[in-house]
This record gives sequence, C-alpha cells and structure tokens, in this order.
Amino acid sequence: MLVNLTDVLTTEGKAEEKQVALETDVFRYQGQEYEILEKHPFSLKLTNLENGKAEIKGQTSLTMKFFCDRCLEEVPYTFELAFTLEASEEEGYELDVENLLNNEIMLNWPMKILCREDCKGICSVCGKNLNTGACGCDTFVPDPRMAKIQEIFNRDKEV
Ligand SMILES: [Zn+2]
Ligand SMILES: [Zn+2]
Repeated sequence: MLVNLTDVLTTEGKAEEKQVALETDVFRYQGQEYEILEKHPFSLKLTNLENGKAEIKGQTSLTMKFFCDRCLEEVPYTFELAFTLEASEEEGYELDVENLLNNEIMLNWPMKILCREDCKGICSVCGKNLNTGACGCDTFVPDPRMAKIQEIFNRDKEV
C-alpha cells in the first residue's frame, strides 16, 4: 500500500483525497496475532504546504479481537484513528500506508483490556470464569507479610 506523494509535494496548492482499502485481516504485535473484525477504508487527505512539504491527514477506525486480561473472554476493541503528519521530500515521494497505520495502532494500543470494569477473572484453582458465578474453591491465600507478623507474635508468647 504505497501512495505516491510526488504531485502533492511538488505542486503548489495541490490537494488530494484518497481512500485506501486495508488488505490485511490480521494485525501482528509483539509476537501475537490479532484478528481484525471490522475495518473501514483508510481515508487520507494530502495537502501541499510549500514546495517539498505536504500535510497528511489520516482517519480510519478498525475493530480487533482482544481477550480480557483477567478472564480471557473475547473482547472487541475499536481503534478510532485520526492524525495529522507532515511529510517532506527528504523522506521520499512514497508513503507506505501500511507502515503508517501500524505506527498509529501501536501509539493507540490499549494499556489494559477488560470485558467489563469489575471483571472477576478466573479461579486460580479450577479455572472457572467467576463472572458466571462462584465455584466454591478455597482460594484464600494468606498474605506472607501477615504470616511473618503472626510468627513473631507467637514467638513472643512462648517466652
Ligand atoms: Zn473479563
Ligand atoms: Zn475454582
């Protein structure tokens, strides 16, 4: 997906609009593959600023399949991308749209994905999704710091 910028970089007052369809259905990031569930053409507005310089405005939205960080259920996540960049002829006359889009997705990558704010996650003993109900496992894990205090307390009592 290369867009030629020659005209817009070299012609004063030139403005172009382009719609670029995304070819891929999968996004790869940090060794993981994310299925693209919904995508829209990438809309680009290219405007000449001065000789050798152009403004690039890009806009698109796409929805990818993520998994909840706690319970691992599928969660669709929509990226709403809108950005403005400046291109100059020193960077070349061709714009790699795929590369540009990848960068924008990474900049907007969510810190955390949860199916809902209060997701209860999965039981560490049986693996049951706790959003669908309790499983009855004994998941009480004593706090190691508390155990230490308890130990000291008991030792003092023995003296
Ligand atoms: Zn969840
Ligand atoms: Zn359980």
